Amino acid sequence: MNAPRAQVSPPHIAVPGEFDAEQVRADFPIMAREINGRPLVYLDSAASAQQPRAVLDAIEHYATTTHANVHRGVHTLSQEATAAFEGARERVRAFINARSTREIIFTRGTTEAINLVAQSWGGMRLKPGDEVLITHLEHHANIVPWQMACAAHGARLVAAPLTADGALDLPAFVALLNDRTRLVAVAHVSNALGTVLPLRELVAAAHRHGVPVLVDGAQAIAHQRVDVRALDCDFYAFSGHKVYGPTGIGALYAREALLAQMPPWQGGGDMILSVAIESSTYNDLPWRFEAGTPNISGAVGLGAALEYLEGLGLEAVHQHERRLLAQATAALQELPGLHLVGTAPEKAGVVSFTLDGVHPHDIGTLLDAEGVAIRTGHHCAMPAMSFFGLTATARASFGCYNTSADIERLVTALIKVREVFG
Ligand code: PLP
Repeated sequence: MNAPRAQVSPPHIAVPGEFDAEQVRADFPIMAREINGRPLVYLDSAASAQQPRAVLDAIEHYATTTHANVHRGVHTLSQEATAAFEGARERVRAFINARSTREIIFTRGTTEAINLVAQSWGGMRLKPGDEVLITHLEHHANIVPWQMACAAHGARLVAAPLTADGALDLPAFVALLNDRTRLVAVAHVSNALGTVLPLRELVAAAHRHGVPVLVDGAQAIAHQRVDVRALDCDFYAFSGHKVYGPTGIGALYAREALLAQMPPWQGGGDMILSVAIESSTYNDLPWRFEAGTPNISGAVGLGAALEYLEGLGLEAVHQHERRLLAQATAALQELPGLHLVGTAPEKAGVVSFTLDGVHPHDIGTLLDAEGVAIRTGHHCAMPAMSFFGLTATARASFGCYNTSADIERLVTALIKVREVFG
């Protein structure tokens, strides 16, 4: 009798020009991990994306060959570190097509970028009776800083409603714009629902009222081409760790004409030109908004992440994730008792859902036992959850390294959850 033949999977053969997610997956060392004895299926990129080898190498190379403090050093290492840091700024500028590096402020992430605008711009512009207009699907990072700024200046926070499928109710949004509106602050993509907001229409409507627009780009930056000039937005915020870079770094794009009027928001070294006990003069843009030693290696890592993503091609990544979204949506809709939360016509690679009789946390725990990482909870978007009468959902989100086999593993694991709960 012949010995049984070992199961050998066929080699993956990339078709030239085709997006090869298996090969992309191999660029990410963490994808080699097993979780509970199963190969990792990572479906939590909306919370934090994983980092490719190119980013890890860039950070290590910086730390082992170049690190010193930036901007004021005459020695070689300091000058090289400054070149690396400012080079990363130029990469961010080019990635989002800003006019100048003067418009790119490094921050800790999206949250800090929005707080910067809320405190600096808000402190300068908001007066009693003014309004800041947001939407019901915002992340807490684009709600709470505005609540704080409005409370400090006697202004009012107004939220535009959603439609039943989780899209923005655009006519209602437009109707809420009025001569008291001072700022519109909206997500590009909802992290809880996956909804892509109609930014062109929204920005045009706000600008017709002379109102600037801040865009929270945390969930868009890694998944579609972002061009701040084409969008015509006034502020755009994003985080490095959502775009395959490290945590603790992000960026704020701000139109130079606005930044030039805004007061600094944090004081300290690097943001000044001269200091006397009585008063100080402030540095030029963008450094005026970067007090203290910045996250230099984080910026280097972010620059490498953007370079990596450019190498994959934003359009190819976008199309790949659209295919994953279509596959996941179709498969999940077939599962008895599963309800998709957020089915707007324009969606990014985020699928939120509930399962009858199963708490989202139990779904997450059982999926983890199968090696499938998803997120459960309110996703820092409690008003979006309560809009749907929910406190929590389970959420699978996709990145460039996900494959259709990952979606199959998700669906198989969900069928097991269904079996456990009967
Ligand atoms: N905005 C959105 C839409 C998000 O999804 C997130 C993070 O999940 C944030 C803001 C906050 O990002 P960070 O915690 O990196 O500042």
